[in-house]
Amino acid sequence: MTGNNLLSRLLRMHGFKVTWFAMVKSRKVLHLGVKPRKTGCRCPHCGRRGTIVARADCRQWEDVVVCGMPCIFFYAPCEILCPTHGRVQERIPWADDHARITYRLEYLVLLFCQMMTQKAAAQLLKMWPSTLSDNLHRSIERLRTGHRIADMDKLGIDEISYHKGRKYATIVYDLDRHCVVWVGRGKGRETADQFFKEALTEEQRMKIRFASSDMSKAYMGAIEHWCPKAILVIDRFHIVKALNEAVDEVRKEEWRKAEGKGKAVLKGLRWLLFVHSANRTKGATRRLNALKGSNRRIHRAWVLKDEFEAFWEYVYTQSAASFFTGWITTALKSRLQPMREFAMMLRRHAEHILPFVKTRLTNAMAEGINRVIKIVKNRASGFANLEAFTDMIFLTVGDLNLPAQIPQVFHTA
Ligand SMILES: [Zn+2]
Repeated sequence: MTGNNLLSRLLRMHGFKVTWFAMVKSRKVLHLGVKPRKTGCRCPHCGRRGTIVARADCRQWEDVVVCGMPCIFFYAPCEILCPTHGRVQERIPWADDHARITYRLEYLVLLFCQMMTQKAAAQLLKMWPSTLSDNLHRSIERLRTGHRIADMDKLGIDEISYHKGRKYATIVYDLDRHCVVWVGRGKGRETADQFFKEALTEEQRMKIRFASSDMSKAYMGAIEHWCPKAILVIDRFHIVKALNEAVDEVRKEEWRKAEGKGKAVLKGLRWLLFVHSANRTKGATRRLNALKGSNRRIHRAWVLKDEFEAFWEYVYTQSAASFFTGWITTALKSRLQPMREFAMMLRRHAEHILPFVKTRLTNAMAEGINRVIKIVKNRASGFANLEAFTDMIFLTVGDLNLPAQIPQVFHTA
């Protein structure tokens, strides 16, 4: 076996082979001349053979690191004349048309970036961090072009902050497939409109049967406008959050009014009030019950909050609806302004809250996704621009299928 053949086998070159090699000792790099195995240059678009018209300049592709040694491929591709596509550069089996790295390195870049910081990935792959992030962006861009969102049955839409919580983006989830299908700048109506208008076809919009969002006019309005057939359910998490905020508002009012001993009773109460009854310790419940004697208003708000938990457990819409109206009536009588405002909000949105009972639809299905996004965000200590953040979202929780989308028999180095 000649040296070239041995190297071709060792480096698992499918569809191409080594024609020469050289060790650049000073840089500890392995240079490899490579060449597609099959003669008869093929068009990258249609795979048909074409006649060679010229030979382009020699190009370089960075390949994976072998035993700590980066490999670089050298080849001068042919320019061919395809009957359909005209003058094109021949198809190269190891890399995408304009890529400067091989498919298998590209795959490793994507895979490593799913698991670790870009800095760590760059170190392992012996690349400059800036080169790596360039390559990453280009790969994801390529994988996303021409990529169509699969038909959806249940859609979730929510806002997310990036760059130290000062900037917002809108994220759209496929709640059945548990993945992010779209990310857009901003959290207003225009952003939501942009998604429905540009990312989905008319047919796809009509196929959406359920949609979950917060109670913002922007998202609700967009869903009602673009998916008139969908049942819109306000996300449970956002309702619970609004209820907790109302209770907290009552607590704050009392805190401001309280003096001396009254204030001491209210200390450290904030988080206690938020805890779901199922997760509360006995001691905490005792303490909250004791409020009945010391601060009736907070006690009343807390009892209302605890009672509302029952709504999520209902199985029959009819009984849920009568509980719902009953609770609202009680809350309205409570003389606690924040609780009354919350009750009025519930009444206003009843038609989008009650369907929860039957559909059980909530963005919480996307909770796991959000956890991953948070990890990615923290790992990178925030993202200055949305593009970099979007790349990472699609890479970790998007609807990309890397092994299927990167053509190559070998995905491992
Ligand atoms: Zn062609």
